[in-house]
Amino acid sequence: MQTLVMKFGGTSVGKAEAIRQSADIVLAAKKDWPRVVVVVSAMSGVTDALLKGAHSAAAGDAATFRTIAADLRNKHFAALEALMPPGAQGQARAEVLTYLSEFEALCHAVNVLGEASARALDTISSLGERMSIHLLAAYLQSVGAKSEEVEASDLIITDAHYQSANPMSDLTRTATQARLNPLLDRDVIPVVTGFIGATQDGVITTLGRGGSDYSAAILAVALDADEVWILTDVDGVMTTDPRIVPGAQTLAELTYREISELAYYGAKVLHPKTIRPVIERGIALWVKNTFNPQHPGTQIVKDNGHTHGDIKAVTVIRG
Ligand code: ASP
Ligand code: MG
Repeated sequence: MQTLVMKFGGTSVGKAEAIRQSADIVLAAKKDWPRVVVVVSAMSGVTDALLKGAHSAAAGDAATFRTIAADLRNKHFAALEALMPPGAQGQARAEVLTYLSEFEALCHAVNVLGEASARALDTISSLGERMSIHLLAAYLQSVGAKSEEVEASDLIITDAHYQSANPMSDLTRTATQARLNPLLDRDVIPVVTGFIGATQDGVITTLGRGGSDYSAAILAVALDADEVWILTDVDGVMTTDPRIVPGAQTLAELTYREISELAYYGAKVLHPKTIRPVIERGIALWVKNTFNPQHPGTQIVKDNGHTHGDIKAVTVIRG
């Protein structure tokens, strides 16, 4: 049975229109793939806002986190309102409110203590993904698809290295298969939180900022998936930074070694650590654009037998 893991980044779920486009891509893929797992980031800007709430609370500010909670409620509700009729929003609205009251309670505790531990920061910053899954899953359900939201704390078991936790592969494999296979067998599309995991004791951890790509890779390995698609807001990996060089082109193919070198020299590309397990297993990895789904994107391959020494891309470290 062919399995596809698709990961949508923050801008791909950043507002209603983006969520609709992401859902269209999921539904189109589901026609070709019997088993589709979706991994999502928090809506763009949300993780930063949650952390700002935590840090300001720790610094003695008891007001900012409440404003942030109100802003985040408006942001999530606005997306829900634009995506589906009121009758379909109930469950997702309730989830968002639950997580935002948890956010306020946690920030209040941090404010009283006057410090935010790494463990507290992980619990607080996990809330963005725990809200965003409900938006995409509710929208998929509202258009008649079978979808269910899943928290990766049930799937990805990590050590207690808060803020950049390391997955434990055997435990993760067992937990992921036990939770997701029954859904996939019933043709349900799981919408899974990126970024987060949990210790064996069930304490929330995060895989590090930008960690949702890693989540997708971990789940793909745990499920013996055939392909991983990283959906972002550019056409793939480019020859250079298009903000500096407007003529930058999308690369059709890049090797793991090439992408590692680009990352090392400052390019904002997939972090090599996050994709290594996927490449090692020979799982096909694509970087694609949510906002230009016709474009094939970039395929990352283990090795393509080309001569080393070709110049593929140019990157810069300022200063
Ligand atoms: N939401 C998390 C972050 O902003 C993880 C991710 O987007 O990949 O770092
Ligand atoms: Mg993000």
